[in-house]
Parts: sequence; C-alpha cells; structure tokens
Amino acid sequence: MTLAEATILLEKNKPAMRKDGSQNTKIVATVGPACNSYDKLLELVKAGVDVFRLNFSHGDHADHLAVIEHIQSINHQYNTHIGVLADLQGPKLRVGKIKDNALPLVMGDIITIVNDPLAEGTMDRIYMSYDQFAEDCEVGERILMDDGKLVFEVVFTDKKSTVKLKCLHDGVLSSNKGVNLPDTNVKLPSMTQKDREDLDFILTQPVNWIALSFVRRPEDLHDLKEIIEARRHPAKVMAKIEKPEAVKHIREIIKAANGIMVARGDLGVEMPIEKLPTTQKEIVGLCMQYARPVIVATQMMDSMITNPSPTRAEVTDVANAVLDGADAVMLSGETSVGKYPELVVRYMGKIIAEAEKQYWPQIESKRPRAVDKSKLFHSDVVCFNACRVAEEINAKGIIGMTTSGYTAFKVSSFRPNARIFIFSDHLNMLNTMNLIWGVQCFYYDRFTSTDETIQDCTNILKDGGFVEIGDTVINTGAMPLHRRYRTNMLKVTEVE
Ligand code: PEP
Repeated sequence: MTLAEATILLEKNKPAMRKDGSQNTKIVATVGPACNSYDKLLELVKAGVDVFRLNFSHGDHADHLAVIEHIQSINHQYNTHIGVLADLQGPKLRVGKIKDNALPLVMGDIITIVNDPLAEGTMDRIYMSYDQFAEDCEVGERILMDDGKLVFEVVFTDKKSTVKLKCLHDGVLSSNKGVNLPDTNVKLPSMTQKDREDLDFILTQPVNWIALSFVRRPEDLHDLKEIIEARRHPAKVMAKIEKPEAVKHIREIIKAANGIMVARGDLGVEMPIEKLPTTQKEIVGLCMQYARPVIVATQMMDSMITNPSPTRAEVTDVANAVLDGADAVMLSGETSVGKYPELVVRYMGKIIAEAEKQYWPQIESKRPRAVDKSKLFHSDVVCFNACRVAEEINAKGIIGMTTSGYTAFKVSSFRPNARIFIFSDHLNMLNTMNLIWGVQCFYYDRFTSTDETIQDCTNILKDGGFVEIGDTVINTGAMPLHRRYRTNMLKVTEVE
C-alpha cells in the first residue's frame, strides 16, 4: 500500500476526539525529532494520542521543556487533557567508544572489559559504564549487548577492574551499545546522578507520570516517591518492568507503584524471549486486579518506522494487548524518529477500535471484583456495583467525581462496558487520568449541591454530544459534597 492510499483509508475513519467511545484503550506516543514541533504534536493529538512520553535517555532539558509547553498550549487551546509521562533513563549500562565504531567479532573471540572511560575500544580494552562490574559478575554469567544481538559469557574476572568475555556467536560491536546483565546481581542504585538531575528539572514542570527504568524491587521506588513528595509535586510513579527480578517481585512492585509499563525491549533481552507473551498477560491481569494502569510498550508497530503500513504480526500484537486488558499501548521509535508518526497513531486507533468490538467476552474472566481487604472497601463496592448496574440497565456512561483520582482508577479497573466520564477540579489530575483505560476527563469546579452537580455534569456531557436525551447514566459521588469523602453514592439518572 502506498502512503497516499494508506492516508485516504485512514482519513475515512478519523476518530473525532473519541466522542463515540470507540476506543477505551489509550495510546502513548514517544516524542522525538519526528514529532516535537507544536504542529506535529497537534497532528498526533488529533490522530488519537492520549499521553506523550518524554524519553530522558535522549534530548536535553531545553528540548523537553519546549515539548511540555507545546502540550500545555494544545490542552489549553483544544480543551484536551493530554498527559505527559517523563521516562527516566535509570541505570542503563552501555559500552564506551569503539575504535572506528565497528569491532567485528567471531565466535570464540575474547574481549576485555576495563574500568577506564578512556579505553580505546579495541578487543583488549573496552569500557563499560558500570564501575563495579568486575566485582559483581561471576564466571559463567551471560552478558548481552546491542539488544541481545551479541551474546558473551564471562570467562574471567579479577574482581577489581578487568573482565574477560567469550563471544558466543559472530557479530559487530559498535560504540555506546546497551548492555544487559540478566544473570548478574547488579548492585547499582535505582536512580543515577543523571536521573536525579533530570528529576530536578521534571519536578519544575507539569508532568503527570514519572517512569523509573530497571526497577528490580519495590524498594527501588522509595527514593523517587520521597523526592516527589518532598517537592509536593502531584506526579504519579510508574515502574518499568524490564528485569526478570522485577517479574519475580511483581505483586509488591505493582502495589508500590501507581502505574506499570511492560517494557518489552529490555525485558525481552533479559528473559527468555518465549516467556514474554505470557509474562505480559500475567502483569496486565495483576494490574487490573490492583487498579494500576498498565502500558504495553515497545516494537508494537516497529516496521512503521520506515513503512507506511504495519505487518500482520504487529496488528495482531496490538490487538492482543488490547484483549489482554492493557490500559494503553505505546509507540516508541515509530513516533519519535519514524517516517509516519501520524499514520501509525491512526493505524493503532483503528486496531484498538476493531479489537474492542470483541472486548467484553474476552475480558469477562479477567475482570476483578472489589476485595474485602482494602481500607476503601465500601468505596470500591460502590464503584464495582456502578459498573454492574450500568451493565444491567444498559447505561450509556458512569459519571464520577474525584480529587485524588481514586474513583477513576477503580471504576476503570472493573472494565465496565458503559463509558467512564470523570469530573475533577484538579487540572493536573485530569491529565494524569487520561492514561487510564476508558476514562474521559472533564474539568468541573462548581461543587455546590449533589443535585446541582449531577445536573451540571449531565448537561456538560449532553452539550458535548457524549450523551443524548433519553440515555441513562450512573452517577457516583461522595455525600456530603463539601466533605470530599471517597465515593459513597450511586444514582441512576435519565438524561432530560
Ligand atoms: C523498553 O525497554 O521496552 C523500554 C520502553 O525502555 P527504553 O525505551 O527506555 O529502553
């Protein structure tokens, strides 16, 4: 298919700002040189992006600042609630410079890793950005480089500064390639000096989510959470699952984080790749159970970095992530450096819409119930039953009011087949909630009486074309309004 043909096909099915509710699963797009101008970002929002991801492995603070300002202007001008996810690089390991940027390797070759940033990058002297590597690794461990394209085995370590690796198959190593240590007990802190500097900048900005890379245990999130709290910033914390160790501690990490990213790029290198699909399904299912939004990330539409249409396997991958129950699917290189950023978002939207036609029969067995262990059990039961009543009476939507976002996270986790309309007077929270499955956000700050608020919200939805006269909606809320309790009320309203 040519680009022109593909564009015409998608144009006919343009999602009109989701008024029709044809897509509950959200789209996260990574920003980069291919889409970082105001016009390009707006194009992507019109095509269906819900959250932009700023990847702090690339670009400087000035680049990120310009993007955040563009997103804010778009939100302001178009009354959208596009969220910003700042993704910290974390302790990503890399080799240093390689002489002539290419070191051909043959199976059986031995390369030497040294603790010297000025190493020439020859077979005998290659730098790796992990000072304690010699100390922490053991003979026999596997070492992967360049997204697993090169595999080595540790054959010697002096436990101080030098490690020898045997190459297990032919390949070429070039400068700055990533290194993965699936077998090594990596003792690096979860936040590097660079992460702390990036965080210092991020916390001066209206970002909604901060993702931490290479999380291994729930404790890894403590520092980040403490810094965010100390700065009184409302950003929520997302744990990127890309280490087998994190998969081992997944329940505790999910409970400690506000959201999860299944970062399949590094995860697929660090664990046996054939385990990736079932691991994805397990993580997504648990996130639904704990009401934590979950993003399925990496290589979803990879071929569209250079081609104007996706492969069959990519279309199936996106659809499967939707049917697993992901809150969002993510684009990386496809939007940041790809040739067709807008087109790939439109394709993704169409795949989501089509997969969701089969959604509820597939998701039924995975839908959680309210559990009696929670401190907020009563509120959870109201949210759960709002979803069930909506289903029984075929209601058009569930309307929630929230300050903390709790109702949105909860109602969405029960995956109702009615739409989810969330009202809040916290602008930042509205943008945060835009990541959550099915949630459509509206600003509302006139908390007067319960009756008036219900009427106002219904009118806003009616005027916006989201509901029509004769539709039924379910209102949830907290009474009395001024006490700002957690949700404790459920009402059935007919739109007049
Ligand atoms: C990944 O590894 O899948 C991922 C999203 O992380 P990053 O792009 O930061 O390497």
